[in-house]
Amino acid sequence: MTAAVRCVTVLGSTGSVGTSTLDVIAHHPERYRVHALTAHTSREALLAQCLVHRPEVAVLACETDAAWLRGELQAAGVTTGVAAGAEALCEVARDGAADTVMAAIVGGAGLLPALAAARAGKRVLLANKEALVMSGALFMDAVAASGATLLPIDSEHNAIYQCLPAKHRGGLSRHGVSQLLLTASGGPLRHLDSAALERVTPAEACAHPNWSMGRKISVDSATLMNKGLELIEACWLFDAAPEQVQVVVHPQSVVHSMAAYNDGSVIAQMGNPDMRTPIAYGLAWPERIDAGVKPLDLFQVARLDFERPDEARFPCLRLAREAMLAGGTAPAVLNAANEVAVEAFLDHRLGFAAIARVVEDVLEDQPMAKALDLETIIAADRRARAAAVQRVTHHGALRR
Ligand code: NAD
Ligand code: MG
Repeated sequence: MTAAVRCVTVLGSTGSVGTSTLDVIAHHPERYRVHALTAHTSREALLAQCLVHRPEVAVLACETDAAWLRGELQAAGVTTGVAAGAEALCEVARDGAADTVMAAIVGGAGLLPALAAARAGKRVLLANKEALVMSGALFMDAVAASGATLLPIDSEHNAIYQCLPAKHRGGLSRHGVSQLLLTASGGPLRHLDSAALERVTPAEACAHPNWSMGRKISVDSATLMNKGLELIEACWLFDAAPEQVQVVVHPQSVVHSMAAYNDGSVIAQMGNPDMRTPIAYGLAWPERIDAGVKPLDLFQVARLDFERPDEARFPCLRLAREAMLAGGTAPAVLNAANEVAVEAFLDHRLGFAAIARVVEDVLEDQPMAKALDLETIIAADRRARAAAVQRVTHHGALRR
């Protein structure tokens, strides 16, 4: 029996996860059709993708870019409709013509479209971890209420998903799971001491040893904020308390994460570090398809190492855990401050080690509230961004 053709919308299609998603889709034209593609400002890249995948709709951030794309597509005889703006992202995310939405926009900008897809009951392939960090309870409630299928694409969470029983809702202990072991490569700066970390440049921070990713997540990997965001993400996805998630530094990035059971079993998912594996898993679930990924050669890997993370040199992991324990809007504040600080660092306005300082200052200063509705979360996000801009100016000035 042949599977029904799935109709897929890729939010953030020009990014690292987005292009890997289209690569997997292109290998299975009999299984997948692209409904909509979206990008922020990368109009040339989006044009190239539209010429290949011929989606019904393409979305860009501003009308000027959208008009340009419309003109180019018309000239090429392609009938893709082009829209612009944040509301258009939510419209394509909830559009009844698609059954699957890959949420691969980076940062808080991805929250509303990812939530729109969850509320519309889609199969949501969630790469955009910031959406869940900001609105965990609300997002999981939306998934439950609409009957959406939420499949984690972040490689660690995808691994844990594969290591858990098929029906794992309702608390880990009910299923005999004692701990989730979240692996971290440790990033490119794992061996640097605190003094050296003060001088790290954006190019050094983005030179990830194992994964090729967008610049924001690359910096997050270097500060270990990525692992902090992932700890929060794991708590929401798997109904876990922060104490049930142990971060394990594993420099080879072959074990993508593990679940430890009461009987002493530890189940791991392994593979080459290639996002096409979790993407293909999400697209085909519960089946398996060829992802175009090289088979894992254990003789070449030869050894697997595991270490404790060093939270003294990489305080972002501690800050994220504390924000999750504080609850309410604290994770949204953490995320917002981090986004502002990372952008300033990439822009050479802030030192590497000051990213954590900005986040800590903002978390200390901002009043926390219960995250009961989207308006409260968005208001906390806005205030935290404004506060972070001020702290960046302060810490940036100290640096000169
Ligand atoms: P990226 O920077 O390579 O791509 C981001 C995409 O989002 C691009 O298509 C861009 O045009 C779009 N975008 C950016 N800002 C936008 C905005 N304000 N409005 C609308 N669209 C916008 O990022 P990435 O590395 O592909 O990461 C995407 C998400 O997936 C992030 O949340 C990241 O944490 C997560 N993730 C990525 C990887 C990876 O290997 N790259 C792994 C796990 C999780
Ligand atoms: Mg990850």
